[in-house]
Amino acid sequence: MSGRHFLQIPGPTNVPDRVLRAIDRATIDHRGPEFARLAKEILPGLQKVFRTQGPVVVYPSSGTGAWEAALVNTLEPGDLVLMCETGHFATLWKQMAENLGYRVEFIPGDWRHGADPAAVERRLSKDVRAVAVVHNETSTGVTSRIPEIRAAIDRARHPALLLVDTVSSLACMPYFHDDWGVDVTVCGSQKGLMLPPGLGFNAISKKALAQAGARRSYWDWKPILKANEGGFFPYTPATNLLYGLRESLAMLEEEGLENVFARHARHAEATRRAVRAWGLEVLCLDEREHSASLTAVLAPDADRIRKIALERFDLSLGTGLGKLQNRVFRIGHLGWFNDLMLCGTLCGVEMSLGREGGVKAAMTFLEPERSPS
Ligand code: PLP
Repeated sequence: MSGRHFLQIPGPTNVPDRVLRAIDRATIDHRGPEFARLAKEILPGLQKVFRTQGPVVVYPSSGTGAWEAALVNTLEPGDLVLMCETGHFATLWKQMAENLGYRVEFIPGDWRHGADPAAVERRLSKDVRAVAVVHNETSTGVTSRIPEIRAAIDRARHPALLLVDTVSSLACMPYFHDDWGVDVTVCGSQKGLMLPPGLGFNAISKKALAQAGARRSYWDWKPILKANEGGFFPYTPATNLLYGLRESLAMLEEEGLENVFARHARHAEATRRAVRAWGLEVLCLDEREHSASLTAVLAPDADRIRKIALERFDLSLGTGLGKLQNRVFRIGHLGWFNDLMLCGTLCGVEMSLGREGGVKAAMTFLEPERSPS
């Protein structure tokens, strides 16, 4: 098909042309002075996005690697982790923790609500070493209220570490590693940071850094942080993705994070209005927990709709994951995105559904003063 493909899955997201051009350069010596200058620009830039004064470790990995790093740097096999079943990704993280030999208490959920702070407070037995929560559950489009979870841990005066997955929320929704008292924030490059897949991140509190996970090597924070002091890595970093990261951090800085968050929230609201106008239901049930990154839409024949969208309109929508297979499709509205890209996406969904009114409802919300009454 001619024209641009519409990549509206909730990540990987559209990579801006500026970032693609930044990546398209000769790979340099990762032990030379030019590389050190690059790293020394990127690392403070990342701290601004994670909203932390502490270190941010960058791995050549996917988000899954960053999950593992968060666990193995803070826990010993046999330690107890409290996790919340918010959806498919929370379930995968829990399985990983079990594979690594930790004990997991998994608070059940219905995949339509975020983690329940009161349930976390109730289940904080004295053995719990860490609470691990997915901030934005990409499989459901539901966010968890991290400050309320922090408050629940504090109310219980419990010393557990708080580990938070922001793979699909960082640089999309307000998030404050330091102010929210998070110990390890996990992220990946391919969503709000507008990069191709391939980088994983851990933002680390002092308390987390003082832990000594027993079994770790590649993921070990300490040698990385030591090498980072000089602008280097203990192994070969993903040089060209780091060129891209420098560019995407500059783009976020130019737009301003508050504006980035407002843009995401506005597109999410427009999308929900479209969904309701089509007579369909948004999966998220709590008004306080709607994701600004994506919207999961309940539809009995979700896979057929996705197939039409792809084959007829060259539009990729997110599939239903885990127990939501063929029950939802997901519209990604995160990353490098604007009003017309949203309207084009919603138009593709509307034509695939064979329904009316969604695009109009979204347009009326986006530009009320230009809508015919
Ligand atoms: N956590 C969340 C919330 C995700 O959405 C994803 C992937 O989409 C992951 C973790 C895993 O990241 P990756 O697929 O990059 O390993």
